[in-house]
Amino acid sequence: MDVKSAIVGGGLTGVSLARFLHERGEDVVVLEREPCIGGLCRSRTEAGFTFDIGGSHIIFSRDTGVLSFMRTVLGENREERTRNTKILYKGSYVKYPFENGLFQLPKDDLFFCINEFIQNLIAVETGRVPPPRNFAEWITATFGRGIAGCYMLPYNRKIWNFPLENMSHHWVDGRIPRPPVEDIIRSAIGIETEGYTHQAVFSYPVRGGIEALIHAIAEPISRYIMTGFPVSRIREENGTFTISDGRRDVKADRLISTIPLQILLPCLENVPDNVQAACDALKYNSLCSVFIGVKGKVPEFSWVYIPEEEAGPFNRISFPSGYSTRTAPPGHASVLAEITFNEGDAISRMQDPEIIDHVMQALEKIGIIPDRNAVVYTGVERQKFAYVVYDLDYRKNIEIVREFCSERKISLVGRFAQFEYLNMDGCIRSAMDFAGLDR
Ligand SMILES: Cc1cc2nc3c(=O)[nH]c(=O)nc-3n(C[C@H](O)[C@H](O)[C@H](O)COP(=O)(O)OP(=O)(O)OC[C@H]3O[C@@H](n4cnc5c(N)ncnc54)[C@H](O)[C@@H]3O)c2cc1C
Repeated sequence: MDVKSAIVGGGLTGVSLARFLHERGEDVVVLEREPCIGGLCRSRTEAGFTFDIGGSHIIFSRDTGVLSFMRTVLGENREERTRNTKILYKGSYVKYPFENGLFQLPKDDLFFCINEFIQNLIAVETGRVPPPRNFAEWITATFGRGIAGCYMLPYNRKIWNFPLENMSHHWVDGRIPRPPVEDIIRSAIGIETEGYTHQAVFSYPVRGGIEALIHAIAEPISRYIMTGFPVSRIREENGTFTISDGRRDVKADRLISTIPLQILLPCLENVPDNVQAACDALKYNSLCSVFIGVKGKVPEFSWVYIPEEEAGPFNRISFPSGYSTRTAPPGHASVLAEITFNEGDAISRMQDPEIIDHVMQALEKIGIIPDRNAVVYTGVERQKFAYVVYDLDYRKNIEIVREFCSERKISLVGRFAQFEYLNMDGCIRSAMDFAGLDR
């Protein structure tokens, strides 16, 4: 097969890019390893329950062009919800973001948080806080020792599973809500405020879980997608790429990779040692998603952050049956627990039944499920590449790998190809920009 552009990887980025290039009249093919498209945005439906396999996904964005695209392609298959998100703090549910729920803290903790926030603000204003050198220092320099110690540090340690002192902070702006001081004061004295407002109302497909978004995007280009095509070798000769899965060859004038760099590099020939070493040094986290279906009800929260280790192994639990009633059978509800892990750690060594047992025990203890007898469905999915971890050497290493790919004329688009913390909107924006669409 000969095409103009071959896109390796049929996750959200790959299918979006194929659609945009096709709209521009370009001849494309998407090569996807798995039997179905979607990558991290796949969903599974079993026993009447639908769960997103790459952790809970919702549709939101500050990018109005991308948001409008996602809404339009879903059409009628979309429901809107108002966020009702909490943080489990010392056994109570505090409004999210934490700074907006300060009034719900025990009085001593509230004083600690507000006092430290103000002391810190004065110290920053008078130039007594040195510029942060890492993510841990950024958290304390932004929120003060109170909010940092009560919530931000423990939560981030749990989700990143990596020393925060060894993480860079160049990526946090726009991703971690920075509280306006007025909001902190309002929230401390009990006046309700909303933080992170572009996510306060979110959407979700009525049917099919988040994977429905992928199919809606892929609809006009489905005939240009080859699933079950695990790319294992890529060669370039005289401006033509030959992309192979070991059995079949596809020839293309242009190659766009949306797969993780750690999978791409072994497909290439003569990768210099320093490039391979830089790629090996890039850090990422894996994710274990645990699915629990229950008879009866669960709390009417959207999702809950769980910073404390004692409360359970998960950093977040969400309630897909609240996103769309079609994700659970009538009279039933669902809970999705997300656990970050890395190869070789305790979670990675646990078998699925053991993890499910841990999660059910913890959910029972914190009162999310009434008791185990209510559980009618369980499941586990693991994703090797879930989160990019920005360690202190990240920028040095990624530059080396990107430069090499650029020399080989391989374009990188998407979360693990760009190796950036891109949400769905960021992936679609990258694809739109790559295709030269102005939306
Ligand atoms: C826990 C979690 C929660 C999230 N929640 C949200 C949310 O609420 N809202 C939001 O906007 N975003 C969310 N995201 C982010 C979102 O999942 C990603 O931005 C998006 O799915 C990335 O898409 P992608 O196509 O770039 O990468 P991927 O989904 O990783 O796709 C890469 C594709 O390449 C394929 N592939 C790999 N190797 C090969 C090979 N050798 N040959 C061929 N194909 C190959 C894979 O099978 C996969 O289909 C979340 C992410 C996580 C981890």
